Amino acid sequence: MSEQLERLNRLPLRGNLRGLEPYGAPQLDVPILLNVNENTHGLPETVHQAIVSAVSAAAAGLNRYPDREFTELRTALSRYLEHGLTAENIWAANGSNEVLQQILQAFGGPGRTLLSFPPTYSMYPLLASGTDTEYVAVPRGADFTISPEAVAAAVAEAAANVVVLCSPNNPTGTALGLDVVEAAYEAGEASNAIVIVDEAYAEFAHAGTPSALTLLPGRERLIVSRTMSKAFALAGARVGYLAAAPQIADALRLVRLPYHLSAITQATALAALEHAGALLANVEDIKTQRDRIVDGLAELGLKPAPSDSNFVFFGGLDDPHAVWQGLLETGVLIRDVGIPGHLRVTAGTEAETTAFLDGIKALMSSRVS
Ligand SMILES: *Cc1c(COP(=O)(O)O)cnc(C)c1O
Repeated sequence: MSEQLERLNRLPLRGNLRGLEPYGAPQLDVPILLNVNENTHGLPETVHQAIVSAVSAAAAGLNRYPDREFTELRTALSRYLEHGLTAENIWAANGSNEVLQQILQAFGGPGRTLLSFPPTYSMYPLLASGTDTEYVAVPRGADFTISPEAVAAAVAEAAANVVVLCSPNNPTGTALGLDVVEAAYEAGEASNAIVIVDEAYAEFAHAGTPSALTLLPGRERLIVSRTMSKAFALAGARVGYLAAAPQIADALRLVRLPYHLSAITQATALAALEHAGALLANVEDIKTQRDRIVDGLAELGLKPAPSDSNFVFFGGLDDPHAVWQGLLETGVLIRDVGIPGHLRVTAGTEAETTAFLDGIKALMSSRVS
């Protein structure tokens, strides 16, 4: 046992935390970081300046607690999402990870279950464990898709209290049909299940991909989770949010810490939302780079999954770890998500994407077969 683990084990840690490792992809010092699906395009200068001004103004009032209800931000987020939503339908926290944690604090907990469909976002089981919610994992089929029938059967069998569907799914990249969401919701009626659709990557979806926001009217157990970490290039600011029936926000008010969204966070998010146009223009370029990756990998005989996100999951690798390592040696860090034969890469800038494609092409052609 490591000294660190021994030290930790002397403490009266909760049983379900014993032996756990903290979550986190390696943060290595590499020139080209394509491993955690960040927005590789950074903030446009106009947005940077707008945030600096807004934060400066907010700093003058930091002796006071922030608006606990972050009403201005909820209004701005509802306008951004459209779909007839208003501030009442919106809730936000420090990253969508905190939003998901609050949902589990309110609707999960001891004796309750969170159902999901791996391979999917690796934070779901950790958030379940942290809230003492039982995590029920129903694996996807060999092609990583899930059908409405399979989802409905799993929801019914688990009598799930909370179901989380990730669309577009991380790490596979593909969006779900709304029929899958509808099936989960209907099957969840018997157990009064909360159904979360995690749309962290929604802005990167191909044109015409419908959002679960369209399903919200009349479905009070449905939650659509979004984030400013990806399309809005604000991973460092920690702003996630959801759209749902107003009573969902009321439930989360029972578990949120008072003043959980700092005045600096609120000012930053508001300034970015005022410049949504400039930020979404970068999203279009990222989608172009994403499509270059899909095409380039297919040309190499690899098997990229269809991607509606800012990353590409690809198979057909005999030795993914060797490819990961080979790319790292050329200064490109991608993600080994631990799925046999597969790797995941985030779409970079044009130059970063070229470096990745050149690197993997060289590795594939030098491969001893
Ligand atoms: C990146 C990501 C998030 C975003 O998390 P934040 O806490 O908002 O940064 C949420 N869900 C999925 C599936 C993600 O990949």
